[in-house]
Amino acid sequence: AEKKIDRTQLVVIGAGPGGYAAAFKAVELGLSVTLIDPEINPGGVCLHRGCIPSKALLHVAKLVSEAEESEAIGVRFVKPTIDVAQVRDWKNGVVETLTGGLGNKVKKLKITYLRGTAQFKDSHTLNLSLVDGVTRELAFDQAILATGSRPIMLPNIAADSQRIIDSTGALDLVDVPESLLVIGGGYIGLELGSAYAAMGSKVSVVEMTNGLLPGCDRDLVSVLKRRLEKKFASILLNTKVVDLKEQKGSVQVTLEDKQGEQTSKRFKKVLIAIGRKPNTESLGLENTTIVKDKKNFIVVDGQQRTAEPHIFAIGDIAGEPMLAHKAYAEASVAAEAAVGRKAVFDPRAIPAVVFTDPEIAWCGLTESAAREQKIKIKTAKIPWRGNGRALTLGRDDGMTKLIVDPETDRLLGMAVAGPGAGELIAEGVVAMEMAAVSEDLRQSIHPHPTLSETVFDAAQMFFKP
Ligand code: FAD
Repeated sequence: AEKKIDRTQLVVIGAGPGGYAAAFKAVELGLSVTLIDPEINPGGVCLHRGCIPSKALLHVAKLVSEAEESEAIGVRFVKPTIDVAQVRDWKNGVVETLTGGLGNKVKKLKITYLRGTAQFKDSHTLNLSLVDGVTRELAFDQAILATGSRPIMLPNIAADSQRIIDSTGALDLVDVPESLLVIGGGYIGLELGSAYAAMGSKVSVVEMTNGLLPGCDRDLVSVLKRRLEKKFASILLNTKVVDLKEQKGSVQVTLEDKQGEQTSKRFKKVLIAIGRKPNTESLGLENTTIVKDKKNFIVVDGQQRTAEPHIFAIGDIAGEPMLAHKAYAEASVAAEAAVGRKAVFDPRAIPAVVFTDPEIAWCGLTESAAREQKIKIKTAKIPWRGNGRALTLGRDDGMTKLIVDPETDRLLGMAVAGPGAGELIAEGVVAMEMAAVSEDLRQSIHPHPTLSETVFDAAQMFFKP
């Protein structure tokens, strides 16, 4: 049955961190909003099958490794055992609490939430296919696109394989396989690999380039790699997967090294984590004048406007970095722009955190990027072995690094490896947004004994008497 519904002032397509944040903000600013997503509740990838469930599993990993490692300081536990079903239920419960909370907020704010997908009929009308089978047209004054991204799969791999899985399959936690090969040494592969290793899988990682976390500061990666080498069965760099075959209860994998030499190995499961691509194909963009770039991201201006000035795009579909907090920040800009405010997306620093053990985090310019781009910098590096708090935690393997402009002393970037790095990096973000110089960090009193004192100590290194 086809039924025409009322026109909406603002339609938001996709209810992930970008979409729900944009809808909430737009309502606050006085617009009437329709939000469209196939899921029962808002949350998108981040809450349903990304950030939140992965951090729940990584918490399990943390408990296991702390129990194992506490022996070194004289505290002995019996060997931890994992009740997979209970862990899965707990993780699902966390997700339901959060997404249910968002669902309630949508109702409270009187946002019209339609379960289904949307496609442009033209630049002022959408075709909606709702999950109850109804199709409708929806006319809108303005639109915000926030349809996110999905995993890239290797070609010729059946999507319904039980043994060759993507991040969503890994987070479903069907079981803890005896052996797991993670294809891709990016943050998603390393986080999920760490979780499975702690739960008892023998995890191997294969990465095509010459290092884990391509693009990340090498000092941070080396801190992480030292520890991962103890947790993982193997880390194969400069190696690619040339063939995958599911057979007799396992997966036969053919690997090829840089010299072209091939080896064959068997794993119970294979996790493909080779990157993500924006969901821009099935939106009917061809019925508008919206422009995509070579990687299929939607091209936007500083206000998140697409080539159609009344249509905005935010979050993973609007380009790198594909992170939830970037989506939130862009959501706010787009909603404000939609009511005519002069907001622009112009962050000094978007933080990035890898929630492995140790965590690694950075914001602003990285030392590796500065060297590549020949930007003049001064760096200060503080290893954590001299930090009181790190030693009382039984962890001295961390590192804090500050990067400043040698002429102005202004903070250009911060990088941290160690437990809690993801929390510590927020100081760097605020400092950069406030245009801090290293003296500002040095003059700010940091609590003792904490890991944050390593930031103070690093700033101290720039002091010129
Ligand atoms: P999404 O969250 O992708 O949401 C898009 C929504 O749009 C989805 O619900 C989708 O169903 C819906 N949709 C798609 N097409 C249509 C359509 N045609 N009509 C209607 N609805 C549609 N980021 C972090 O910052 N920190 C982390 O720790 C982190 N961990 C992650 C771990 C994993 C395993 C993964 C996969 C990702 C992780 N991310 C993390 C990335 C983060 O999930 C994304 O950056 C974030 O979800 C992007 O938000 P978004 O609003 O752009 O889109």
